[in-house]
Amino acid sequence: MAEGILLVVSAPSGCGKTTILKKLMTKISNLEFSVSHTTRQPRRGEQDGKDYHFVTEEEFIALRDQQPSGFLEWAEVHGNLYGTSRQAVEEIVATGKDVVLDIDIQGADQVRENANPVTVFISPPTPEELERRLRKRGTETPEDIDSRLANAESEMAAASRYRYLIINDELEQAVRDLQAIVVAERRRQNTAQVKRSVLKD
Ligand code: ADP
Ligand code: 5GP
Repeated sequence: MAEGILLVVSAPSGCGKTTILKKLMTKISNLEFSVSHTTRQPRRGEQDGKDYHFVTEEEFIALRDQQPSGFLEWAEVHGNLYGTSRQAVEEIVATGKDVVLDIDIQGADQVRENANPVTVFISPPTPEELERRLRKRGTETPEDIDSRLANAESEMAAASRYRYLIINDELEQAVRDLQAIVVAERRRQNTAQVKRSVLKD
């Protein structure tokens, strides 16, 4: 049996990653989003357990410092802690589904060390458009927006470490691009599999 895909998607904040991933999930089956833990406050409309597990710093640190750690990876991003729960990922893998991680560039580096993820970087068409989207979303204070824009520059510099790059200019095209990547990765096969399934020794 082919191994499942671990899809890692990163992007500067406000680029449209959450919007793209939500649309992707309605188009592709057997793919499940791993709900991260975070110490940041919920935004309007965000649900605990669905968008994130919203926890206190004490709860986060207790999970992080378990042996083995409760997190497959974790990072401090824009002044808050974020982590991928080991248990959440294992539960999805046990169902045979592919897993999607929406994590920052530090988290992606950690996952690359221990697994062979399919990595996708989503870029805004221009820095000006990124700023326009962040301000229009209106979920952060002006100071938080400035911090996210400042981080965007160094995040963009990490794009070359990802297997795929998608420019989120026209939303539906970006969703189609990500869908095409998942489908293509599901069709990949290694030599051993070819021998087993086609040549039968
Ligand atoms: P992220 O998860 O990357 O922080 P969001 O998905 O919250 O970003 O998107 C930020 C804002 O940009 C939202 O208001 C969203 O509706 C908008 N947006 C996303 N993609 C596009 C696009 N291709 N064109 C215009 N606006 C977009
Ligand atoms: P936001 O606060 O806008 O939801 O997310 C901020 C950043 O944190 C985004 O780059 C997002 O991908 C990242 N992030 C969300 N969950 C995790 C996680 O579990 N681990 C890491 N390393 N980053 C995360």
